[in-house]
Amino acid sequence: MTFLADQHVHSDLSGDCSVPMREMARAAVKKGVDCLCFTDHCDLEDYQTGAYDPDCFDGAVRREAYENALFSVGGDIEILLGLELGESAHRPEKTAEILACGGFDLIIGSIHNLRGDVDFYTRHSRNLFISKEQCMKLLERYVKEHLELARFGGFDVIAHIGYPLRYMKDAGFDLTLDGFRDEFAEIFRLLAGSGRGIEVNTAGVRRGMGEVAPSPELIRLFRDCGGQIVTIGSDAHTREDIAADFSWGVDALKDAGFTHYTVFRGRKPEFYEL
Ligand SMILES: [Zn+2]
Ligand SMILES: [Zn+2]
Repeated sequence: MTFLADQHVHSDLSGDCSVPMREMARAAVKKGVDCLCFTDHCDLEDYQTGAYDPDCFDGAVRREAYENALFSVGGDIEILLGLELGESAHRPEKTAEILACGGFDLIIGSIHNLRGDVDFYTRHSRNLFISKEQCMKLLERYVKEHLELARFGGFDVIAHIGYPLRYMKDAGFDLTLDGFRDEFAEIFRLLAGSGRGIEVNTAGVRRGMGEVAPSPELIRLFRDCGGQIVTIGSDAHTREDIAADFSWGVDALKDAGFTHYTVFRGRKPEFYEL
């Protein structure tokens, strides 16, 4: 990898991160990262209740933090401004309003909770995963919601496919998405045919999954379905996790036959050698 771009990074604009953007940016310079795209949360539904959160986006605050980060690092690193947009297909009108603000380099589309439900993280913290059968039913809905998201649009790449698996595993149910190949083939063909793609999220490596998300098998399936657009993101919420385990992402992509990965600027893809 000659150009190292981490395109899934949080700052204290996300409720689950306490490090200001300018400090994350400075830490990335020290790590030798070439490009950092901040993708702070904009979850349209509250992670604890699943209720609509009309105040989840404040573009002016984000822009100010971004300008500060730019000023603080000078030209030592390229800093981009993206958005991790959660549950967009549940709230089309709000999504349209946010996207109309413009000025984003990258939109990553996430599903953290199913329609009418709480975040999978919250489900786990409340001991709401109770059996393998129940988890499989939730995964069925999770996959269906990805098809809905792929049809709905409003993103450049889908983030961390397989997000619930880490919490299910923590609850004692070690499952995979292997049984949903046909469903994912449909989702991936939709993405490939519309110039969109997937993110390879390396957080699973450090969170006990021992692999990236989506799994190497699904990354290969995406490639087989004609997929070309792939970003890599650490999902860092701390300075230490910036660009963590990127070699896992690079290896998974190379094993699947990719020679390049994608960096988004102004929501336009550019390709860099892996
Ligand atoms: Zn996420
Ligand atoms: Zn994230």
